[in-house]
Amino acid sequence: MTTLRSESLAAGEVAGEASGPRVGVLALQGDFREHARVLAQLGARVSLVRRPDELADVEGLVIPGGESTVMDKLARAYGLAEPLKAAIADGLPVYGTCAGLIMLADTVLDAIAGQESLGGLDVVVRRNAFGSQNQSFETDLGVPALGEPPVHAVFIRGPVVESVGADATALASLDDGRVVAVEQGNLVGTSFHPEMNGEYRFHEYFLGKVRARS
Ligand code: GLN
Repeated sequence: MTTLRSESLAAGEVAGEASGPRVGVLALQGDFREHARVLAQLGARVSLVRRPDELADVEGLVIPGGESTVMDKLARAYGLAEPLKAAIADGLPVYGTCAGLIMLADTVLDAIAGQESLGGLDVVVRRNAFGSQNQSFETDLGVPALGEPPVHAVFIRGPVVESVGADATALASLDDGRVVAVEQGNLVGTSFHPEMNGEYRFHEYFLGKVRARS
């Protein structure tokens, strides 16, 4: 297995196994390096995506955590927003964590003025939904689609899914019933950050969708 030195991974550069699925990580902003490291360890050929032509090469895409307002502005400024929407509509497997989930949501509450999402997931999310006392926390979540053991989930100013539309499915909820992981066809979104604590099963789940499509 190739060891990824993601500090040295420039946009468009590829790391990981030569035979693995070609997976991009949107690298406009946020914790894209952590995702690139996880995906390379799982055997994907990982490239960082900042330009539309870099999107054309990939068979799947991860949208990282970070700040959705900034990611949205940069995606539009770099001419990536429309190609991303087209790729999602075309069935590209995409996994979004935290800000990435916000980018994938059809409706975003507590957005800043003018903020847009890419959409694709038939859900309503609320940004920064945990209030100032609980902005960041960790908890164990049952995720039936991933089996045992529970997922140890790290939340950092994460969104909650306030409603799940008819086309989407909840994958995990907090004890109080609030939904924090969803799926719809080739799209997966989590309010939390599996890339930060060695929890690789969501990335595996996403790679399963990539392999099934290619
Ligand atoms: N609060 C951020 C936003 O609105 C998301 C935080 C994160 O990705 N960790 O985009």
